[in-house]
Amino acid sequence: MAKVKTTYFCQKCGAQYSKWQGKCNSCGDWNTIVEELVQKPDPKDWKTTAKKEAKKAAKPLLIAEIENTPQNRLNTGNNELDRVLGGGLVPGSLTLLGGEPGIGKSTLLLQISLGLKFRVLYVSGEESQQQIKMRAERINPNPANCFILTETKTQNIFRQVEEVEPEVVIIDSIQTLHSDYIESSPGSISQIRECTAELIKFAKESNTPVILIGHITKEGSIAGPKVLEHMVDTVLQFEGDRNHVYRILRAHKNRFGSTHELGIYEMQGSGLREVTNPSEILISKNDEDLSGTAIASTLEGMRPLMIEIQALVSTAVYGTPQRSTTGYNAKRLNMLLAVLEKRAGFRLGAKDVFLNVTGGISVDDPAIDLAVIAAILSSNEDIALEKDTCFAAEVGLAGEIRPVTRIEQRILEAEKLGFASIMVSKQSKIPKGNFNIRIIKVAKIEDVVSHLFG
Ligand SMILES: [Zn+2]
Repeated sequence: MAKVKTTYFCQKCGAQYSKWQGKCNSCGDWNTIVEELVQKPDPKDWKTTAKKEAKKAAKPLLIAEIENTPQNRLNTGNNELDRVLGGGLVPGSLTLLGGEPGIGKSTLLLQISLGLKFRVLYVSGEESQQQIKMRAERINPNPANCFILTETKTQNIFRQVEEVEPEVVIIDSIQTLHSDYIESSPGSISQIRECTAELIKFAKESNTPVILIGHITKEGSIAGPKVLEHMVDTVLQFEGDRNHVYRILRAHKNRFGSTHELGIYEMQGSGLREVTNPSEILISKNDEDLSGTAIASTLEGMRPLMIEIQALVSTAVYGTPQRSTTGYNAKRLNMLLAVLEKRAGFRLGAKDVFLNVTGGISVDDPAIDLAVIAAILSSNEDIALEKDTCFAAEVGLAGEIRPVTRIEQRILEAEKLGFASIMVSKQSKIPKGNFNIRIIKVAKIEDVVSHLFG
């Protein structure tokens, strides 16, 4: 029998302490440290479940000697997911899918499981097999290779894995799992840590990709220790307002690809529909001329995206003017307002300014600055902008309009979507070619103002 041992963990960041203390030195939070019972198994026990021999010790190799094996990725058949992953699931990798409860994480992974060409084991500790079947029938009535298991004990899961021999394993969710080797309750830091470690061992030894669902706390971090995010290879985040029909999938960490790609889904009764042309859904089709809206040509990862910026500028009712943003950096808004005031003489200091990126997405591409400024000025002057004009440029502190990356791609996307003109920086290096769109080049704020309201 292993010796019983207790350790103290910060419930927020996972830092470990030998004795209790009021404040966590690691994350600085108070009263987050709790005692947990840790009971490490006998090394012999461990091996019987792993059923693998100790690996041969690795030897150093010259770079020239290292074989260049191309990564054989598993295509999930879901283009949005595959792109965010960087081209499909990597064998032996552990992927964590985080998101708020009710956002549709289970639906997404169940849908993918049902559509996979490979044998997949979907392990749920959240719902019964009957509940999952009901949901599955709505999504895909003829699934091919999907096994459903309702189990929360890792040792039992590994036993079933040996029977089924799946090519992909999905766990819903890591917070429900528990391992016999640890006494503390499911969802606690030590259980999450232990179960994840067992799954990593399984994934690496069997070369099977594993996807974990992880719930997110109100503060927006994945419930459980920060170490969970460090342990896995890829961390995906599934986000979107529950009232919005769109969901956004992005990678926060990716050992096998970039973290710039974005997947967009539409929530429907029959599951999540992949949105292949996101620009169309992000721009409202309104026939009226409304002041305060401007379209920006932005990039999310490799994909160009047209988004609508809405601004509302009004005289402040109370003493201190309000500044509020959704989907855009509030500090950046304040900076742009200061630039407008100082460089173009707009008296915005006493006005309330609200800014909104429609569609519930958040953008940190500096190329949307010009659209933000155009939307603010349009609302301030109460003059609607031309509907078929869009914007792609950064605005500097001196009021200069700066060029942005991959301008050609942005112009082409605007052209593809039928815009008549696009406003860019005068310094943009635009390759010669026949664009079917008018390119307006501006150098400073004054040029923008005279173009828009001239
Ligand atoms: Zn902490």
